[in-house]
Amino acid sequence: MGAARASLHRGSGGGEGSARLAEPGAGVSGPRRRSRGPLRGVAASPGVRLGVARVLTAEVGGEVERRVPRSRVAAEVRRLRAAVSRATAELRAAAQGAAEGAVQGAAEGAARELGSAEASILEAYLMLMEDEGLLMQIEAFIREQRATAAWATRAVTRALAARLAEQPNSYLAERAHDLEFIGREIVAALAVDVPVRQGQELTRAAEQGAPEPRGALGALEPVSVAGRLVVAEDISPTELVRWASAPPLGLITALGGSDSHTAILARAMGLPAVVGVGSALMAVREGESLLIDGERGEVWRSPSQARVARALSRASVVAPVEEPLGGDATACGVAIELQVNLEGLGGLAAALEQGAAGVGLYRSELMCLGWTRLPSEEEQYELYRALVEGAAPRTVTLRTFDFGADKPYPGAARRWTPPNPALGLRGVRLALATPELLPAQLRAMARAAAHGSARVLIPMVSQVDEFEQVRALWREAAEQGGQAPLGVMIEVPAAAVLAEVWCERADFLCLGTNDLAQYTLAADRTDPEVAARATALDPAVLRLIRQVSQAAAAAERPLSVCGALASEPLGAALLVGLGVRALSVEPGQLLRVRAALRRLRLRAAEEAAAAALRQVDAVSVRRELEARLGAVLRGPRGGSRR
Ligand code: PEP
Ligand code: MG
Repeated sequence: MGAARASLHRGSGGGEGSARLAEPGAGVSGPRRRSRGPLRGVAASPGVRLGVARVLTAEVGGEVERRVPRSRVAAEVRRLRAAVSRATAELRAAAQGAAEGAVQGAAEGAARELGSAEASILEAYLMLMEDEGLLMQIEAFIREQRATAAWATRAVTRALAARLAEQPNSYLAERAHDLEFIGREIVAALAVDVPVRQGQELTRAAEQGAPEPRGALGALEPVSVAGRLVVAEDISPTELVRWASAPPLGLITALGGSDSHTAILARAMGLPAVVGVGSALMAVREGESLLIDGERGEVWRSPSQARVARALSRASVVAPVEEPLGGDATACGVAIELQVNLEGLGGLAAALEQGAAGVGLYRSELMCLGWTRLPSEEEQYELYRALVEGAAPRTVTLRTFDFGADKPYPGAARRWTPPNPALGLRGVRLALATPELLPAQLRAMARAAAHGSARVLIPMVSQVDEFEQVRALWREAAEQGGQAPLGVMIEVPAAAVLAEVWCERADFLCLGTNDLAQYTLAADRTDPEVAARATALDPAVLRLIRQVSQAAAAAERPLSVCGALASEPLGAALLVGLGVRALSVEPGQLLRVRAALRRLRLRAAEEAAAAALRQVDAVSVRRELEARLGAVLRGPRGGSRR
């Protein structure tokens, strides 16, 4: 962080009530200058911050056709070479691991999952990656087009892949996937180290108080995103995790939806985020002063002082409501269990201090983001044990890996890129298709369970045979470790429809509204063109939730809801009205949801839920809920607005 960085904290810190101004050179325009209207997107993570733009669009998405000044062409070529070396080193490590694993059988790391067939695939990737001819074509594209390295890589690998795909020879056609994979790996390596600052750009950055590049390799020095407002076409969960040690001030993306895993992680990290802004974001320039309002989904360019002051005062009005700890209940005394969703150990202590009843969802796959191999059984055990011991005597719900869709399998070493990842090998399907993934994880979980109270949860189950296969593996693991209940995520419509079946088979049910909405409405939660349609407030989703809650009550099976709907006061109240008595919420929303529920009467919640079920779309559901419960949940201080 540069010495010129100044930060001003307002509000009571943490959660959506915090409004922090940090300004490494960020400035507001003078009182007489009128600001333009805001860029609008989806409010994905709350918080209001003023900062300087760090534009990563071309590097992250890799598809933006952005030119660099002629003076930077040579530097782009050097960035390309550096990225290829990094990507090659990562691949080589994975290939070596795979080869050793094939020889030793049960070696650690990637070897465990890969085996000899995969080792040879990785070797083939390596050969392509090291192909000078390919590299020269990309370099030529950079020089001829004055292209960013990312654009050139994408353009060349895609063009070659398209030509290969047309070949009648199936072997050659298959190589098209390999080329696309190589292209993505290089672009990912480019995204780790972002544009070179030279000449004017360097001067401007220095003027703005940004840190100076270090060392003689300044031209290839990674530019940090720390303390900046990252502006990007899209940001993957992996990238976000890579930035965790020196995080940006906030995130603004052209793509993405509010229930994507990137948005969930941003909320967990306390980073304001506005996503799905669309192509208007392309107008934002590196170093521009921006005001991000993660509550309203607005981004103001060169905001006026008055605008900043207004945003700040509004943010301080909605500071989290401090409520006494103790058992959670509605105003009329109906007990509600409030747990938290966690992505790592961080956040556990704070959640317990705030009186969380336990961890209702631990997303184990998110600890692997950015890894080139799976964590070993021992590494997993240490982490799960720390969670279980840290939460004792409360229960921790450990979910097995939910890789697939936007959460990449570590090392991205799987050969097949599915045409529709959200409907392909995801969650339990991928786990079952990857020998030895589940046995090691389940053993680690069973061993950890012996140190306190844990439950094991299986994601993305759609059919009974998947669960039964896992149950057989779980029995073996539990014999060696410790016993724990085995539960099922209800997040695909098929599972919701057969809720009675799951009540007979699983020890507990955990309903994920994010995926249940995306699959019920056939709307990808990460695709900005349709993500808004993937809303759990849709009456079709609500009817499924009611069906599950009725089945669980009849069978006396524990049911909790852990999707984003539970983290919103109106949504939480609606779920209570639908019969749900345990909610697992995002840690930053715990106080707010608790405060709202303490003002809620069960009768009002049930009437609101019944009215919601009679509506024909999500807009009228929200209107109905707002009219019936909005004022009550907000309370005298208006504290429940999101
Ligand atoms: C869900 O789908 O609602 C859920 C909690 O799981 P995830 O968000 O990790 O997919
Ligand atoms: Mg899910």
